[in-house]
Amino acid sequence: MCAYSRQCKTFGGFTAFASGIGIGIGRGLDEYIFEEAPGASYYRLVLTFSAQTRTAGLTRMAEDRFDVLVIGGGITGAGIALDATARGLSVALVEKDDFAAGTSGRSSRLVHGGLRYLEHGEFGLVLQSLRERGILFRLAPHLVRPVPMYMLAGDLRRRATYRAGLTGYEMLAAGRNVGYHTSVRAGQVAEAIPGLGEPSRGFRYFECQTDDARLTIEVARAAQAAGAVLANHARVTGLLGDGRVTGAAVTDEITGQGFEVRARAVVNATGIWAERVAGLADGSGGVQLRPSKGVHLVFAPGAVRTTAAVAAPSAAHDGRYIFIVPWEDRVYAGTTDTPYRGDLDDPEVGEADRDYILAAVVRLFPGVTGDDVVASWAGLRPLLGQDGAGDAKSSDLSRKHAIFAGPFGLYTITGGKLTTYRVMAEDLVDRVAADLGGSGGCRTREIPLGLHGSAAAAVRLARDEVRRLGLPPRTAVRLVQRYGDDWRQAARMIGEDLILGEPVADGLPVLGVEVALARSREMALTDEDIYVRRTRLTTLGLTPSAGSRQP
Ligand SMILES: Cc1cc2nc3c(=O)[nH]c(=O)nc-3n(C[C@H](O)[C@H](O)[C@H](O)COP(=O)(O)OP(=O)(O)OC[C@H]3O[C@@H](n4cnc5c(N)ncnc54)[C@H](O)[C@@H]3O)c2cc1C
Repeated sequence: MCAYSRQCKTFGGFTAFASGIGIGIGRGLDEYIFEEAPGASYYRLVLTFSAQTRTAGLTRMAEDRFDVLVIGGGITGAGIALDATARGLSVALVEKDDFAAGTSGRSSRLVHGGLRYLEHGEFGLVLQSLRERGILFRLAPHLVRPVPMYMLAGDLRRRATYRAGLTGYEMLAAGRNVGYHTSVRAGQVAEAIPGLGEPSRGFRYFECQTDDARLTIEVARAAQAAGAVLANHARVTGLLGDGRVTGAAVTDEITGQGFEVRARAVVNATGIWAERVAGLADGSGGVQLRPSKGVHLVFAPGAVRTTAAVAAPSAAHDGRYIFIVPWEDRVYAGTTDTPYRGDLDDPEVGEADRDYILAAVVRLFPGVTGDDVVASWAGLRPLLGQDGAGDAKSSDLSRKHAIFAGPFGLYTITGGKLTTYRVMAEDLVDRVAADLGGSGGCRTREIPLGLHGSAAAAVRLARDEVRRLGLPPRTAVRLVQRYGDDWRQAARMIGEDLILGEPVADGLPVLGVEVALARSREMALTDEDIYVRRTRLTTLGLTPSAGSRQP
């Protein structure tokens, strides 16, 4: 349901406003189905990740017994599947909706150390996050890219505080930093952020930005390439075993068929649903979550004029900051952090959330109004309930993760951040592998996520190819940044059908080939999978005229 009076359409947790850009798509999604040409297997760098591999995977799941069954296809579950498979364990993963349909596709899309956790004295968490940020930047340089971040500080006292914080932050990042902070004059700030009402002095530092849903897909694809069997739209409805957990009852949400998956260890990586899934087994106490809602608003092109991200103090003087971040040709801003007790499957963007974010944006960018908002999304953080946390604000609860074992055979992991998923997976698999009698060591620090080699080298090669196809150089950058090594596959598909090199709708950067790839190599089964998570069309304010399943 929309919280606003303007006409809007909610789709997969993302809302697009009709006053943004035209709703509808030039070409029906079915027309983008790409058939592999006979003999095309020569081009495959990895196994396709599609409806066909999903069907084959479900058949295997029903027949085999695995070392590990992972429940949940968010970043945590995908990371665990990759880590466990790379150690030589046999792994199956089931996701009730789509990969990244939960929190992992609704984050602020930052791979960051968490500068503000320093205020809470969480040095260990910041150190770990900064280390992981550096690792991800190396493993997926096309997808995890440094973004300049500005903090405004007109007065001396604030400048001294920020300088000290940033210096400490970069010391913790030593050896893996992605860029050093500099003090910037008001003129430099105005150049980077032309829409600011009152440019002031401040600091520029660096974090990384990613596409959270695409990162999750890359990790899932890497897990499959390593040997894991994965299926989206496959829901766990029960846990098997008596006294010890030996597998799960699963329903294929596309066909309605039920089957059982047997495994020596079952991992519950279901984020905010973890308490619920753990509750399917007798004697699984201990998992206690305090979901916290975070909301983002997306602004129309040109409404919030900035070329860099900005950390803006909230207008409520509550000590919190919101991030204002460029995305394609628009800007998104968020997030709120409020305790949540509603429907876990469908968190809404309420009036209060919207007003909170809008007020912080308007304070810096005068003239921006609610009419400039073209889309929004809400997500739930799986924060750990803490004994004695009482009425603590959600923003005060730690972003640390925790592992709960029990009953025998079941492991639940929750909490944490997108940024720290790899180390969370390492912790969990260390534990499971030891209980299963040992396996190889963790290898995920060295497994590239979708791109072998440097992004710059890939862009150079892609530029030659897209020029040959008569496309602009920016297409090369887009294909590499979104598809890594698969830019070659994209170029080949465009070469065979030039219309795939055109945008799916006038004025949007998303190309037809992206929809085709979503189906043939990214296991997108429904319109929602394509619009919300593979192409992010909903972030740009576009939803299909009818959301139908197209298996
Ligand atoms: C607003 C917001 C902003 C954030 N911003 C950032 C950020 O900028 N940087 C950062 O590092 N972190 C950020 N985070 C935190 C980060 O997004 C989460 O910690 C992370 O995505 C959690 O991933 P997960 O895999 O544990 O959970 P999820 O992504 O929710 O995955 C759990 C999956 O389990 C599936 N599932 C549930 N029940 C079942 C079942 N019965 N059978 C099968 N599957 C099931 C769900 O469908 C879901 O896909 C943010 C969080 C929020 C809410």
